[in-house]
Amino acid sequence: MSQPLFATAALIGIGLIGSSLARRARRDGLFRRIVAGTRTQATAERALALGIVDAATTDLPAAVEGADLVVLCTPVGTYAEIAAAIGPRLAKGAIVTDVGSVKQAPIRDVTPHLPPGVAFVPGHPVAGTEHSGPDAGFPTLFDGRWCILTPEPGTDPAAVERVVEFWRRVGSNVDVMDAAHHDRALAITSHIPHLIAYNIVGTVSDLEEDAQREVIKYAASGFRDFTRIAASDPVMWRDVFLNNREAVLEMLQRFSEDLTALQRAIRRGDGQTLQDRFTKTRAVRRSIIEAKQA
Ligand code: NAP
Repeated sequence: MSQPLFATAALIGIGLIGSSLARRARRDGLFRRIVAGTRTQATAERALALGIVDAATTDLPAAVEGADLVVLCTPVGTYAEIAAAIGPRLAKGAIVTDVGSVKQAPIRDVTPHLPPGVAFVPGHPVAGTEHSGPDAGFPTLFDGRWCILTPEPGTDPAAVERVVEFWRRVGSNVDVMDAAHHDRALAITSHIPHLIAYNIVGTVSDLEEDAQREVIKYAASGFRDFTRIAASDPVMWRDVFLNNREAVLEMLQRFSEDLTALQRAIRRGDGQTLQDRFTKTRAVRRSIIEAKQA
């Protein structure tokens, strides 16, 4: 077991991501003490019963008291209210970070509530599953995955370095970039793929009952992979789209143009265009496998 990186960590939200961090930190002794802050008593009790935290409470200001690391692991739409509640109780010198899937909105929503001497180092582990809640987490979730940090210029470099070290110790590779760049990159690589999955599965569920039965019967023909993505947490994803509106709409525009081009090729019987496109995309898959991100 290695030296603890922080004495007391408060994990606000103990679902898939929060509980995966708790499990990894417990396993590797990254914190001396782990406190969970959550919305419902049921989740607090479950986190305690799982033995992944030392204390759990629905009193969020009490949860962060004395913590030298606070990690926000709730849907991004909750950040402003949570930051306002915990801000006055944060310990001097504490580091606040988060795991939200968008990065400009957390800076907008959290920073105004932090007292002087508290650093905010926003983060996004590009790792996850379609499952939610404290039972869904596992300690190896972040192994070999990327975690993107988006500190604002002027953030205490020592705080950034400690958060980098934290993500490395939970198994991630770490990239640092600005929040706007993150939001554009993730709009196309993560947010729009989820929107497409939600849309295609939604379309099918609106179809006549007979067609639905066939879809389930023949799911292996491609639909199945979309249903996995479209089973992702509805609240988390609602908040992602509401909080990355501009980048998503911009990328969606490009996506629609490309889709129109494919539609035209099909209508015109232009096999060459279709084959060229599909050959190019096959190479993308190969490079993801080579980068060990498959
Ligand atoms: P989750 O499994 O649904 O867990 C959410 C947690 O947040 C629960 O403990 C929930 O508490 C708590 N919570 C919700 N609203 C709250 C509020 N108003 N006050 C206090 N606690 C509240 O979610 P998750 O998948 O871990 O996602 C958490 C964050 O990670 C999100 O910001 C998401 O964008 C980001 N993220 C997710 C993934 C992914 O694949 N899932 C990947 C990367 C990043 P109760 O159970 O008590 O309601």
